Formats: sequence, C-alpha cells, structure tokens
Amino acid sequence: MPDNRHITLIGAGLAGAVLATLLVQRGWQVDVYEKRGDPRVQGYGGGRSINLALAERGRHALRLAGADDAVMQHAVMMRGRMVHFLDGRTDLQRYGRDDSEVIWSVHRGELNVVLLDIAERAGARLHFDRGLSAVDFDARIATFTDPRDGNTHQVAFESLVGADGAGSALRAAMAKQMDLGERTESLGHSYKELEIPPARDGGFSIEPNALHIWPRGRYMCIALPNDERTFTVTLFLPNEGDPSFATVRDGGDARALFERDFADALPLIPDLERDFERNPTGVLATLYLDRWHLDGRAVLLGDAAHAMVPFHGQGMNCAFEDCVALAEQLDARPDRASAFAAFQADRLPNARAIQQMALENYLEMRDRVDDDDYLLQRALEHALAQRHPDRFMPRYAMVTFHRIPYATAFERGRQQRELLVELTRGHSSLDSLDWTAVDAAVCERLSPLPMDA
Ligand code: FAD
Repeated sequence: MPDNRHITLIGAGLAGAVLATLLVQRGWQVDVYEKRGDPRVQGYGGGRSINLALAERGRHALRLAGADDAVMQHAVMMRGRMVHFLDGRTDLQRYGRDDSEVIWSVHRGELNVVLLDIAERAGARLHFDRGLSAVDFDARIATFTDPRDGNTHQVAFESLVGADGAGSALRAAMAKQMDLGERTESLGHSYKELEIPPARDGGFSIEPNALHIWPRGRYMCIALPNDERTFTVTLFLPNEGDPSFATVRDGGDARALFERDFADALPLIPDLERDFERNPTGVLATLYLDRWHLDGRAVLLGDAAHAMVPFHGQGMNCAFEDCVALAEQLDARPDRASAFAAFQADRLPNARAIQQMALENYLEMRDRVDDDDYLLQRALEHALAQRHPDRFMPRYAMVTFHRIPYATAFERGRQQRELLVELTRGHSSLDSLDWTAVDAAVCERLSPLPMDA
C-alpha cells in the first residue's frame, strides 16, 4: 500500500502535469497515469496545431512550477482583438493598458511536452498508455487499460486526483458511488478548426500579435498565432438554423460561407475544404457538478470538474489555478478529506463564475465588438480605469491580467456594467459627459478593489 505522502493522478494533460510538479516540489510521491502514448515520443495527437491563450493566472501557476520561462519560449504575444468587419475594415481593440497587459498564444502540444518534461525532471513518475477503466473505492484499487493491447493493470492508491479532462473516467467512477449533482448544458453551437499557413516569404500572413475575430452576429471565426508562423482558425457556428453545421456540411458549403461572410479570410486558408472535411466538429458545453470529491479517496479538478466553453480563454488558466489551490490545501490540512473539501469550497464558486463569464463572452465576441453602444461603454471603461485605477478595472482585465478571484470579478463586473450603462445612456460620445458627476458616481458606488495576493 502506498504511504501517506503518495498520490495518484489520472491524466497527464495540462493540469495533470502542472499538479504533478507542484506536489513533487512539496515532497509528495506522485504517479501519473495517462491514457494516450507519450507525446514526446510519438508526437502530439494528429499533428494539428491547436493553440490556447495563456493569461496571468496560468502564468502564475507556471512560475510556481518553475515552468514559465520554458513555456514562454514558445509563446506569441496577443495585444488585443483585431476585429475584421464584413466590409474588410479591421480595428485593433487593445486588451489592456500597454504591453504589460497582454495574453499569449501557446501551442497545446508543445506546452504539454514542456510540462511533462518538467514534471518528470522534478521526480513525478509518468505512466503512458494507461487509461483508467475502473475503480474499486473500497479496496482502493484502480484498474488501467493499455489501449494498444487491451491488457489491464491494477494499482493500489491512497487518493486519486482526476485531471482526466471533460470526459473524465474518474468522474464516472465516482458517480457510481455518490450523486455528484452532475449536469451538462450544451451551448447549441460547435466548432471546426482550420489553418492559415505562413506567407510565401515564411512570415505571418496577417498581424501576428493579435487574436483575430470575424464577428458575424450568431456566429464568428477567430484566429490565434502559432510560433511556427501559422494561425489556428476556429469557426464557431450554431448546430441548427442557417448558417449552421446543419447547412454548412462539406468543404463546398464552407467555401460559400467564407465567400459571403469571411471574404478577407478566405484567401488565407488555402486548404479550407480539406481542413473542414478532415477535422472533427467539436462540441461546446458547460459541465456543472455540485460535488468534486469523494471523502479523501478522490477529487476532480480542471475540465474533469468544470469544463467550460472556450470564449474567455480561461479553461486551462482556471485548471492551473486549481492545481495551485489543491497543492496548497494538501499542504495545509491534516488529512486529505478536509483538504479536498476545502479545495472544493474555495474553487467551486470561482469555477461557476468563470463558466458564466465564458458564456457571456461568446455573445460579446460574436455580436458586440462592432456595436456602437458597446464601443462607447468600452471607451468609458478605459477612461474610468485610468481615472480610478484603484476602483475601476474592466472585468476582462480582472480575469485576464490579475488573480482577483473569478467570483469577485464576476460580481464587480456586474456593478461596473450597470454604472457604464447608466453613465452612457443618452450619449453618443464621451465628450458630452459631466466628468465631475461621473467621478462622484464611481467613488460612491465602487469600493477600492482587492488586489492580487
Ligand atoms: P485536458 O487538457 O483535456 O487533459 C486531460 C488528460 O487526461 C489528457 O491527456 C487525456 O488523454 C487524459 N485522459 C483522459 N481520459 C483518461 C483516462 N481514462 N485515463 C487516463 N488519462 C485520461 N483554455 C484556455 O485557458 N485558453 C484558451 O485559449 C482555450 N481555448 C480553448 C479552445 C477550445 C476549442 C477548447 C475546446 C478548449 C479551450 N480551452 C482554453 C480549454 C482548455 O483546453 C482546457 O480547459 C484544458 O485543456 C483543461 O486541462 P485538463 O488538464 O483539465 O484537461
């Protein structure tokens, strides 16, 4: 039987690798079981470039794990959203005040490889081709299946940590023991990944330091840069209606959609038809659980506990923040059951808040970034953030450039939004505002902000 500083992680994806490192650093013995083969040996799933936006919460966890420098070598800075209007005009909407407030595009495969190397160097034991297939919680025996030959392997455990993603096998096993209060809400929209290759001269074919958005009301396209000078394009469409994945069914339909709605992107994607037909259609949903742990025997984190839609670029960042929180609770508490309970009490409300903000951001990205009221509110938001930096911070900045708890950012964002709507009502420009009254309203309605610990 493993001793009481031993822990078994399921999944060597993004959260699994970071948590393994943080725990080993704190003196834990860590075994990590991963369903897939070692990506360092056989390359990362399918060879497609898929990238993720890394923000301050994620970077903070990477700094604690000693991984930030290695990861940032592969990162491309994104200063803001480059909005592509239907008529071909573009507009760069900065995310933050300056280049200290930006997000970073990282290649999922490279990131995973870097994190696995760091975890292994730290002393975590990684076991690949071991998919969790059954758990006997009474005997504390986990069964893993090797997908290459179907052979099973039994492993004794003290506690299991589920970092095995949205389709978590550990969650399914826990649900047989207790009611987790699980529900999944489908967004009713799905996505397809496409690629913009490098330009003829080998450079980026559009502005590299931006997250490109083609907002079109009920649907949109986005593109994030990769360090190999490509862009990963993601087309988000509803599942029904027109256009939707029900009407855009093959490469020819996709070309017709792009000719009509994304004309400036079309020449950048030479393999549009092939990408559309070969790449899977990804579904988008939010996973809610009321309980994340089974006493001291098992706990879930990252997507396994709270998968969210990707529109705030925070799923991985939130998962990394979970890793820090769980490692800290395991250090601080006398037993695992109370550590897992404290972890859940701390993180569940924050996960709910970012799940909701991610849903709201879809509407904002696809429908509001080119709307006049929105742009005026955003202009006021920027002005107030400069005039009252201790009291007014755009919600996007609280979530992305700071570690203010998500739940605080959510509530604060709601108060600020009300104020912006009130203060801009009846105005079409900031010039007509009474700034004395505006400043008084901010000081009266918004208390000073809590800053990062
Ligand atoms: P995963 O990264 O999914 O890792 C789970 C691991 O567990 C995998 O390695 C898997 O093979 C393994 N596994 C699965 N089942 C088993 C089993 N039975 N036994 C053993 N191992 C198993 N987040 C951001 O922060 N920024 C973004 O810009 C962003 N963009 C996104 C875009 C899209 C289209 C999507 C779908 C998601 C995006 N996300 C983004 C979210 C992000 O991808 C996830 O939140 C993140 O990957 C969660 O990490 P995880 O370690 O919990 O799960």
